[in-house]
Amino acid sequence: TDLSRIRNFSIIAHIDHGKSTLADRLIQRTGGLTEREMSSQVLDNMDIEKERGITIKAQTVRLDYKASDGKDYVLNLMDTPGHVDFAYEVSRSLAACEGALLVVDAAQGVEAQTLANVYQSVEHDHEIVPVINKIDLPAAEPEKVRKEIEDIIGLPADDAVMTSAKSGIGIDEVLEAIVTRIPPPKGDRDAPLKAMLVDSWYDPYLGVVILIRVIDGVIRKGQQVKFMAGGTTHLVDRVGAFRPKIEQLPELAAGEIGFITAQIKDITETRVGDTITDTRRPAAQALPGFKLVQPVVFCGLFPVDANDFEKLRESISKLRLNDASFSFEMETSAALGFGFRCGFLGLLHLEIIQERLTREYDLDLITTAPSVVYNIHLSHSKEEPAKVIQLHNPADMPDPNRIESIEEPWIEATIYVPDDYLGPILKLCQDRRGIQKNLTYVAGRAQLTYELPLNEVVFDFYDRLKSISRGYASFDYHQIGHREGDLVKMNILVNNEPVDALSMIVHRAAAESRGRHMCERLKDLIPRHLFKIPIQAAIGGKVIARETIAALRKDVTAKCYGGDITRKKKLLEKQKEGKKRMREYGSVSIPQEAFIAALRMG
Ligand code: GDP
Ligand code: MG
Repeated sequence: TDLSRIRNFSIIAHIDHGKSTLADRLIQRTGGLTEREMSSQVLDNMDIEKERGITIKAQTVRLDYKASDGKDYVLNLMDTPGHVDFAYEVSRSLAACEGALLVVDAAQGVEAQTLANVYQSVEHDHEIVPVINKIDLPAAEPEKVRKEIEDIIGLPADDAVMTSAKSGIGIDEVLEAIVTRIPPPKGDRDAPLKAMLVDSWYDPYLGVVILIRVIDGVIRKGQQVKFMAGGTTHLVDRVGAFRPKIEQLPELAAGEIGFITAQIKDITETRVGDTITDTRRPAAQALPGFKLVQPVVFCGLFPVDANDFEKLRESISKLRLNDASFSFEMETSAALGFGFRCGFLGLLHLEIIQERLTREYDLDLITTAPSVVYNIHLSHSKEEPAKVIQLHNPADMPDPNRIESIEEPWIEATIYVPDDYLGPILKLCQDRRGIQKNLTYVAGRAQLTYELPLNEVVFDFYDRLKSISRGYASFDYHQIGHREGDLVKMNILVNNEPVDALSMIVHRAAAESRGRHMCERLKDLIPRHLFKIPIQAAIGGKVIARETIAALRKDVTAKCYGGDITRKKKLLEKQKEGKKRMREYGSVSIPQEAFIAALRMG
């Protein structure tokens, strides 16, 4: 295809402003789908994506459009992941486009994510086309929103497109705006092949499917290609695009977006951001910006029922086929038996994997305290010289007498937030040992830069930030290396037994309040037993917090329900059901939710 006939764009929006509905309309209007196929949203595939309202994997569709100038255009619509855990994937998807539609709800106006997304889009030099959606709503105030876009975002909005994605108003205008306002891609068809690997996933029939943006050159079936960062070579066996149904094409050339397959079975060979080139006529330089994404948060996953171990292994292996950023290796724990130590990009990523294992594979799991990776400097001993080890499991903490120092990973975070919420956000950052680096104001919004220890962020920082700002704060971060800290291992003892799954590494100054909080949470989460249960937090031999769960009086059911046999039976059945989701620690049963819930700071 002639470059001047290609447009590559993404859609950015605050949640619920109509991004998916608009995408579906564009697909429908350009003939990709019938009304019936439209009934379910096309771009959000996984159940979890639908429920959480965020996209987890990048998706793309190719639309054929005959514009009012009488010419045929190819429009590539790229959907991007919607969470900070997947920031690198987002950056690659955006790098594959020249422009973006900025969808703003005509009744809600500019909101937090609108702004956060715009900043990213601007960073990638996108031409941004404002779209004011939901003009059909009685509460719509398109003129007011137009002004907001100009005043708050600083984007000219005179020719913002007015739409109702729901009733199909303004869709042709959007398509025309894409063609006339978003620039065509640049690229040299005759130069050596250079394609960016935007995303990849495993398909049981096709093997690993690779989403690419061709920058220069041409890629065809039968071509031998090399992945420059990965170092592997492959024979391309399919080239095509999604319309949204899969369609094979003879080639993809400079400027185009599409997919290839190359008989690849292992997704770890296809790293997002890698450069694909021709083995016979390779590009001199790889594309800039490649980064190997590595797990930053680790935790143990154990089956509640030890008999499920093999099933867990199989299920984890299957999920891993589709997700190269997730890692796992076998782990044994004194209390929990056989399980896996898994690595994730962040807490949401962890929750998604855990949820999929529970839902799609029907497994009951225990998740141990998430941990970041610490560098532990050890002094020499009789057996070993001094060395540095990387620790991502508090259970493996070496003998404290040999520890010279511990370093923890730090991040630099950028937070955008409306003035009104600034106070509580500053307090949150302070409470998490943050170091303020910068604070500036732009149009009623504060832009904050903080350095924070990653372990203070991974648990629930993002959730807290969102809740105290009522969704208005946006948050982005990158790692800035390890720094020494006064860190200690805190153990949790239930009925005087240490529960290794709950032990964690904390900053000494925060240990007491964290320990007290954990004990309080566990007191609520662990049901009463027939005996008294002490819950303690301890550093070494020193108890720093304690709570006690009072003993249960005998025969509660009789007391509560008197003679009603069926209700009593139901209650007992419920208890039995609950039992399955419990883990026995000595003589104490701890419910599965307790393990992760106890870590939330609340
Ligand atoms: P997303 O989160 O940005 O992908 O938003 P969705 O496309 O899922 O839309 C969120 C909600 O707004 C859904 O219930 C849509 O039906 C509704 N919606 C989207 N566009 C319009 C519109 O133009 N008018 C009205 N009234 N509702 C809309
Ligand atoms: Mg959506």
